[in-house]
Amino acid sequence: MSDSFDVIVIGGGPGGYNCAIRAAQLGMTVACVEKRDTLGGTCLNVGCIPSKALLHASEVYDEADNHMAALGVQTKGVSLDLPQMMDHKDKTVDQLTQGIAFLFKKNKITHLNGWGKIAGPGKVEVIGDDGSKSYDAKHIVIATGSEVMPLPGVDIDEDSIVSSTGALALPKVPKHLLVVGGGVIGLELGSVWRRLGAEVTVVEFLDGVLPGMDGEVRKNFQRILKKQGFQFKLSSKVTGVEKTKSGLKVSVEPAAGGETEVMEADVVLVSIGRRPYTENLGLETVGIEVDNRGFIPTEHFKTSADGIYAVGDVTHGPMLAHKAEDEAGAVAELIAGQAGHVNYDVIPGVVYTMPEVASVGKTEEELKDAGIAYNSGKFPFTANARAKANLATEGFVKILADKTTDRVL
Ligand code: FAD
Repeated sequence: MSDSFDVIVIGGGPGGYNCAIRAAQLGMTVACVEKRDTLGGTCLNVGCIPSKALLHASEVYDEADNHMAALGVQTKGVSLDLPQMMDHKDKTVDQLTQGIAFLFKKNKITHLNGWGKIAGPGKVEVIGDDGSKSYDAKHIVIATGSEVMPLPGVDIDEDSIVSSTGALALPKVPKHLLVVGGGVIGLELGSVWRRLGAEVTVVEFLDGVLPGMDGEVRKNFQRILKKQGFQFKLSSKVTGVEKTKSGLKVSVEPAAGGETEVMEADVVLVSIGRRPYTENLGLETVGIEVDNRGFIPTEHFKTSADGIYAVGDVTHGPMLAHKAEDEAGAVAELIAGQAGHVNYDVIPGVVYTMPEVASVGKTEEELKDAGIAYNSGKFPFTANARAKANLATEGFVKILADKTTDRVL
């Protein structure tokens, strides 16, 4: 096997594997270093894909148990087979991660299994089970992704105090799941376990869920989730979790400070966000400094070091798989001498709950802050014929357009 490549990509997630495939398609010799045994990164292994498998399965269960009768479909004895649901999720993950391995073979990409570390300009060291080996690269792409943001005072054990990874593999439905953080991941996984029968309480620091999304959407969505049985404790923070014989005692304080309230739960999900992952990556050997939030700063995907690029969650922008993928293709094209480009103004975001919350472009708050005059058009699903026919009338479509030009914003 050669130890010199046109491109070495560190990280085999959506940013890394897509960059490796595109670079190979453009005629370059490529290696991709991944410390996990399987390719696909957070997204395929413990993120987008397993969560979507459980979201779909739990939605079908909830439909069968609670909603089909109204449509004239009588079901008898609907019951949950959680091991089978988890097996379906695991098989989906296996098939998709193997699919990436197949694409690597097809595109003649060398898959280096081990810890990738930059060891100076044009040098990558890979530390594997059988020792370490050094490789040369004309170009290095960092796509090491992100990791769960820890919560001070709370030790994640992936058993009763879990991150999203543990919440995707609980062996039984918790009686009371306390979700710390009302962002996308907390609400998606909260929805899974709510539908399967758990009581779910979301503790959120801010005064509403889905920070950053359009205010009207946030307010309405929270109301919809409340109707589905979610409980919310807003403007509050979790300051500690104590394990006792009977379960977990969770200390909750008002965000602004004040008296501590103790809540009981049998599982706590910590989902307060993710942070860029650059541990032991050897950035100092090439003089790359991360910013105050840990991200690798880039300009048109280039870091401050010659021939080294960064894409995906490890650099700025929304932490989304399709953003990482888009950057991955663009950086490969840039390295090949083409004009790689990503339009950051139109990256969509979806919360895969029921109903789903999908958005693209500017929120009303952003337009107000920027002093842009706009018209807001809204159509409720209660007045939409197809939504009525499906008994799915929660929600609306909202379009914001420039007041003068009518351009959709
Ligand atoms: P990652 O996918 O994190 O991949 C980085 C890879 O690099 C990892 O496999 C890691 O093991 C490897 N690595 C790190 N350091 C090294 C090293 N030094 N050497 C070798 N390997 C290394 N996004 C969506 O768009 N839609 C969704 O529905 C969605 N759902 C999600 C649900 C959950 C529960 C979570 C946690 C995330 C979800 N995301 C979703 C976000 C999405 O997973 C990330 O945005 C995406 O995976 C980022 O891709 P990436 O390639 O930058 O990083």
